[in-house]
Amino acid sequence: MPNFFGNPKMAEWRFVAAFFGSDSETRSGNRIGADNFAITNEVELLVPNGDVDLSASTLHRLRAALQFAPVKKEYHIAVVGATGAVGAEFFRVLERRNFPVASMRALASGKSAGKKVQFRNHSTAVEELRETSFDKIDIAFFSAGGEISRKFVPIARKAGPIVIDNSSVFRMDADIPLVIPEINGRDVKQHTGLIANPNCTTAIALMAIYPLHRAFGVRRVFAASYQAVSGSGQRAINELNEQVAAAAEDRPASAEATARGQPRPRVYPHPIAFNVLPHVDVFLESGYTKEEMKMQTEGAKIMHLPRFLASVTCVRVPVYRAHSVAVSAEFEKKVSVEQAREVLAKAPGLELVDEPQKNRYPMPLNVAGKDNCEVGRVRLDCALENGLAFWVAGDQLLKGAALNAVQIAELL
Ligand code: NAP
Repeated sequence: MPNFFGNPKMAEWRFVAAFFGSDSETRSGNRIGADNFAITNEVELLVPNGDVDLSASTLHRLRAALQFAPVKKEYHIAVVGATGAVGAEFFRVLERRNFPVASMRALASGKSAGKKVQFRNHSTAVEELRETSFDKIDIAFFSAGGEISRKFVPIARKAGPIVIDNSSVFRMDADIPLVIPEINGRDVKQHTGLIANPNCTTAIALMAIYPLHRAFGVRRVFAASYQAVSGSGQRAINELNEQVAAAAEDRPASAEATARGQPRPRVYPHPIAFNVLPHVDVFLESGYTKEEMKMQTEGAKIMHLPRFLASVTCVRVPVYRAHSVAVSAEFEKKVSVEQAREVLAKAPGLELVDEPQKNRYPMPLNVAGKDNCEVGRVRLDCALENGLAFWVAGDQLLKGAALNAVQIAELL
């Protein structure tokens, strides 16, 4: 293929190709798309000897040629944290959404090297994460915790792929887009090789708060979360399993005694089975936890609403999968339940499940494994002037992590 872009006359062809839609058979650096496209034989015939003729008839013929060219657009993917709770979802989501995957690299710690993960009827061996793991990768999904992201995301960015990171390490950096596609998908375009995925509880709550904000202008929210143990990873799922089994044998988990073979909590400071813990993440001097403040800080960034205020209590509950959030939101404009329901029913990625008289409202068991979040229990808040109270639930492994990250990749 001629080196079109070495020729200054060819600069405009980039534009033309970008305009008509591009392909990305060969890639390098942090760009996927406009700068990297397959030029077909037909197109080469249109530009003999590198002379550019941008007349209307040439453009017309070029367009026809590009449109009928066989387009190959597949990405070499790496999943960091492939053996984790989120990692496992990445494979399912990429497969289910038919994401164009040319090759899959599954990365985890050394202890998982050689384990197998399933992707599209293929069994892929897990490799130990190394500095060289990102060679020839186009998109790297990170979900292996903050420390791994802090160390390996910069390495990955240098190696070339676009990184979509699930940790909280880079979310609030001014030059890193923090994206929920249904809300601020356009921010993806400003990326410089790294896009952050938001906190899971924040993402699920914003799926309902944002459409209401567009209609009524949100001022502040008061919220309490009910967060599933899978939000703390595979070890926490195992811990709940173990404690439930032990309780059934009348040896309930205890932080102190292990005399009767009682399991001692390891992930959480207290037993989680048959308990609720008003404690998610580390405590700050203010008395809030880090997790609780994410709704305000990340919410403000995602909604482009610097004055957004959120007072949140995050609670861990003995639910395996899917977070729920009880929200009271105060708005600038006068609200009505009917209007709010109409807005929520039309919001992308959200379903209105609000027939309390028939015992129909969102619940973790109903949203687990489901892409859309659900909202219900919509009512006028009796303690706020222009307020609505509602309940939103969503699968945090999906909309709070893997699904949202793949949706971001689909925007690239
Ligand atoms: P997890 O189940 O504990 O999985 C952690 C993953 O990281 C495993 O694949 C683990 O591999 C890998 N890992 C650990 N140490 C490593 C190392 N030294 N080198 C390479 N890989 C290593 O955790 P998770 O729930 O999937 O969460 C992962 C990340 O996603 C965290 O940053 C979390 O905050 C974020 N996140 C989670 C959720 C959620 O609902 N769980 C939601 C949003 C964001 P091994 O099996 O080999 O140890």
